[in-house]
Amino acid sequence: MTNLVTNVAAAVEEHGSNTAIGFQGDDTSYEEFWAQTGAFATALESRGVGEGDRVALYLPNVPPFLIGFHGTLRAGGVVVPMNPQYKAREISHLLGDSEAKVVVTLADLVPFVTEVQDETSVEHVVSVGGEAEGATEFTAFLERGAPDIADRADDDVAVQPYTSGTTGKPKGVQLTHSNLASNAKASAELVPDGIRPDDKQLGVLPLFHIYGMTVTMNGALFNGAGYYPMPKWDAQDAVSLVADAGITIFHGVPAMYNDVINQPNAEEFDFSSVRLCGVGGSGIPTEVLRRFEELYEPDVYEGYGLTETAPITHFNSPIEGRRVGSIGKTVPGVDSKVVDSDFEEVDPVEEGPVDEDEVDLTETTGEIVVAGPNVMKGYYGLPEANEEAFTEAGGRTWFHTGDIGYQDEDGFFYVVDREKHMIVTGGYNVYPREVEELLFEHEDVADAAVAGIPDDRRGETVKAFIVPTPDADATPEDLKEYCLTNLAEYKHPREVEFVEELPRTTTGKVQKFKLREREEDAEAAD
Ligand code: AMP
Repeated sequence: MTNLVTNVAAAVEEHGSNTAIGFQGDDTSYEEFWAQTGAFATALESRGVGEGDRVALYLPNVPPFLIGFHGTLRAGGVVVPMNPQYKAREISHLLGDSEAKVVVTLADLVPFVTEVQDETSVEHVVSVGGEAEGATEFTAFLERGAPDIADRADDDVAVQPYTSGTTGKPKGVQLTHSNLASNAKASAELVPDGIRPDDKQLGVLPLFHIYGMTVTMNGALFNGAGYYPMPKWDAQDAVSLVADAGITIFHGVPAMYNDVINQPNAEEFDFSSVRLCGVGGSGIPTEVLRRFEELYEPDVYEGYGLTETAPITHFNSPIEGRRVGSIGKTVPGVDSKVVDSDFEEVDPVEEGPVDEDEVDLTETTGEIVVAGPNVMKGYYGLPEANEEAFTEAGGRTWFHTGDIGYQDEDGFFYVVDREKHMIVTGGYNVYPREVEELLFEHEDVADAAVAGIPDDRRGETVKAFIVPTPDADATPEDLKEYCLTNLAEYKHPREVEFVEELPRTTTGKVQKFKLREREEDAEAAD
């Protein structure tokens, strides 16, 4: 069964009285949740919204996201999740491109939708958390009743998230029922004993992003476990929820782990109910992982994936053992390899992670490519992008991740960096990740990002943007020296700037293009 609806229906059947959603002290059982999704699906059907129609969920992590998500699927529709931080200009592209007929959003965000509605196919706007002009309030929209069972094949598109990309317009990623369901199942199997009906998953990863959607939401809902949504990240609130609700599975992006360990009362936090911590979305600096594990009991298991792969392709298994610094082994059912520019597989290193300063990785690094049931159907309406994204070889369709990495002889994979983040300075290639790892080891560094900035002589030069700890003594000059002592000369940041915070996406990725833009603006102003 690789259909999202039938998998959740089976959990409802078996665990009807369990808590499906625990939100701000209110528990919704699986039976109640199923009735609500039925009412949402019936409401769509009675408005003529059905098979293949797009329904946009422009919401933070609140229960209506889950009801709208599974209600849309029960009606045979396709969910278009949208980041609630987006403004009118950004949603206009997503709504226009996807031809969404319905938008469900917070009452406060309705004006952004009505502002662009004329340029889109949106027929119905539904408001959550209050009334808003031009919208029907969420509970008034619902219609009691059992929806017709939509006949959706496993390879029909279920969800169309947009990947931000740092260049060009966001692309719609067509993920099928089978892409998403196979990955939700595979990710549950990576947890010791699987996800159990008495598990409680913290739902702080944004639901509009694939990691939160598949691993935390569907991971819980496929297995009769509880999902505890948090509308926005706050380290103190998250840790309180963990202790109060007795969270057993905690998934976060590296920036969240870093935030937790940098709280002034970090030593008082209680993670004793947690049996598994997962991390992904970007590489967790080894130092952050080490400090977290020094403070708290649960070990942190790193995984890797992309929106296009629904998402998990690699994971450090608590069952088979992990290797810190690695993204883990390819998950069951998925294949991956490291290839050069001719699509030839490159040799693995003996054992990773290797010290990039000591071992020449030229022959052993390449692009990570993956194939499996979780790989998207393709970008929506973008034949050229699809052409670039896939390579047919050996009877399989391989997806290009755009990540540079290597593999070791035991099957562990390592991400060196994103291909497009590579800095070319004076003819040398520098991967920011390596410099960032070193900076995180410095006691005065709370957060760090390294990017290439334009330089007349070298083409680009390495610059580090650093958030110092509150009691830091080191100066930017000291940190420059520190890097120079520990890295090849061409890799060290020639510029170091202290900043209050780094621009990040809600999924924790540093927006390096913003750092570069800022730099270019500053230069233009000189
Ligand atoms: P997204 O489509 O937003 O999920 O972003 C996918 C990208 O996130 C990948 O191509 C990687 O560059 C990055 N990523 C995800 N997990 C990891 C990880 N564990 N280590 C390094 N990069 C990661």
